[in-house]
Amino acid sequence: MAYKIDEEKCIGCGACVDACPMGCIKLNDQGKAEIDATICISCGSCAATCPVDAPYEE
Ligand code: SF4
Ligand code: SF4
Repeated sequence: MAYKIDEEKCIGCGACVDACPMGCIKLNDQGKAEIDATICISCGSCAATCPVDAPYEE
């Protein structure tokens, strides 16, 4: 299990990048957050921090 980002919602604020304890979120070339699912521990910090509710668990 890992979190993913709904790119339709993401506004590229970068808050989740700072909130992730594993350092597994980066902003891509489109300015959208991307999660490395091989590192994500599903802690939920990104979802708790995101102002537009873009991260979701899958
Ligand atoms: S669920 Fe936790 S570990 Fe996974 S991307 Fe979000 S903040 Fe990082
Ligand atoms: S906190 Fe939400 S809106 Fe901001 S970069 Fe992360 S996913 Fe996108």
